[in-house]
Formats: sequence, C-alpha cells, structure tokens
Amino acid sequence: MKLSAARHWVFDMDGTLTLAVHDFEAIKRVLDIPLEHDILHHLAALPEDEAAAKHAWLLEHERELALNARPAAGAIELVRALQSRDCRLGILTRNAHELALLTLQAIGLGDCFSTADILGRDEAPPKPHPGGLLQLAERWQVAPAELVMVGDYRFDLECARAAGACGVLVNLPENLWPELTDHFAVDCQALQRAL
Ligand SMILES: [Mg+2]
Repeated sequence: MKLSAARHWVFDMDGTLTLAVHDFEAIKRVLDIPLEHDILHHLAALPEDEAAAKHAWLLEHERELALNARPAAGAIELVRALQSRDCRLGILTRNAHELALLTLQAIGLGDCFSTADILGRDEAPPKPHPGGLLQLAERWQVAPAELVMVGDYRFDLECARAAGACGVLVNLPENLWPELTDHFAVDCQALQRAL
C-alpha cells in the first residue's frame, strides 16, 4: 500500500509517539521477573494475589512515566498532519488505557484520538497478537490490509504482519527487522516526509 494513500493509522504509544523512558530491565528486577521473560505474559501466569500486587506496582510506576512523557521527534506534527487529512487514528499499546490517555494528554495529543480507538492491555490481547488491530479494523469497517501500524519494536511489526496490515518501523537509527517491515523511517519526522 502507498503510505500517502493510507487513511487508517494505528500507533504504538511508548517509544513511538513518546521518547522511550520505560526501563524494562529495571521493572523486571523490581518485580522479580527473569530478564528473558515478557512482563505481561509473566504476570498473567502468576497466582492471582501476586499478579494483582505486581500489576498495581506496574500501574503506579507507569503513571509517573505518563505524567512526565515527552513527544518523540516529529510525532506531534505527524499525527496532526494525518488528522488534517481526515485519517482515522488509533492507539494500540501494551500500556493501560487510562495511562495512555494521561500520556497523550501530557504530550499534547489528547484531542487527536477518540477514547474508544485507544486500546490498552485490558481492551485487546497484548501485541504481537493481532487482536487489537483486527478490532480496530472492524470498528472502522475496513479490511485489516487498509491499516498502517506504526511502532518502534518487533512486536508492533509482528502484530501488523499477523493482522495483514502494513507495518511501519520508526525511531531506530537502522532497521533491525527488515523481514518484518513494510516501511522504515528513522523517526516520525522522516515518516511524515515520506507521505
Ligand atoms: Mg513501543
């Protein structure tokens, strides 16, 4: 698909629209999660009490990060440009919905996404599962192939690939996963120039 023709855009949030601040290794150390494990999958497999306590810690930690979030290079301009082209805009994040709202507010994009189009870890299965993208495609009444998924990590690309959407990688000096990537841009500013 030609990016300039795309009208349905889904963004990862942390590290894509914001500067990456999550120190996942530190989080894993505090929560006693082996470094090679996925945080959300690890918590899901724990006994209920322990999982609830660790989820609560994670939410509190992430709330601090959300309030102090700063936009990634060109992210505001890219989203505003797409908004002015009447594109449908969504968020698919492994963060929590309420923290996504706080974060978008903090970086000045609070008015660009409708609440129902912001899917967090409780609204959709975590990426790389394609469920969130499929949900948005259905909400927007378009084929998944019409969607562009923009992210900064392989989960975003794998999610796009599994859904049949177009996967765009941003915010890395070079493309680490060319086999999973449909388009690559060093940052959102470069992506906007490609539109
Ligand atoms: Mg990310």
